[in-house]
Amino acid sequence: MGSIIDLEKYAKENKVPIISKDGLKFIVEYIKKHKVKNILEIGTAIGYSAINMAKVDDDIKITTIERNEKMYAEARKNIRKFSLEKRITLVLKDALEVNAVGQYDLIFIDAAKAQYINFFEKFKNNLTQNGVIITDNLNFHGLTKNPEEIQSKNLKALVKKINKYKEFLKNNQEFTTKFYEIGDGISISKRN
Ligand code: SAH
Ligand code: MG
Repeated sequence: MGSIIDLEKYAKENKVPIISKDGLKFIVEYIKKHKVKNILEIGTAIGYSAINMAKVDDDIKITTIERNEKMYAEARKNIRKFSLEKRITLVLKDALEVNAVGQYDLIFIDAAKAQYINFFEKFKNNLTQNGVIITDNLNFHGLTKNPEEIQSKNLKALVKKINKYKEFLKNNQEFTTKFYEIGDGISISKRN
């Protein structure tokens, strides 16, 4: 049988960036309140967020995309431990190369930060009428607040990309986005 605590332990020991507890709680509340049934997740890692979202209700179905084979294998193992194979469909592929089919009440973007705008544009047409896109790590572990203090060039570029994504959301004519200082910074975008 699967144990959430074991997943958290594994993530900590192996430095897997799973969602924060507060962030997860926030998403779980959203799923309950809005009776979300179909979820698309970009960035599975070890399946921690997918498993937690699936556990909210027996009717929930999730498709989750992961490009890293090692993560994919770990997620598969974990999903099986929780007996969620029927409700969580795992896809091993770069999300930008996936031909997304189906309509989702919730799309959770939690993968490569530099690609956030591309993920958003690619999958926005797979939302149901009242569907939303939730994005994680908008504070990028607090780094987005003081980009000039960052030494590493790569990190600096990434932070710039995240800030660009935030601007993209703020200026978006099609979607209205609410930003929350919860966990590592979360947003909810809804079509106008
Ligand atoms: N949602 C998970 C954490 C995901 S961490 C949780 O909270 O439990 C981000 C994951 O996204 C990593 O495993 C990384 O391999 C994956 N990823 C990054 N870019 C991706 C892409 N373009 N397509 C698919 N997966 C991607
Ligand atoms: Mg995250």
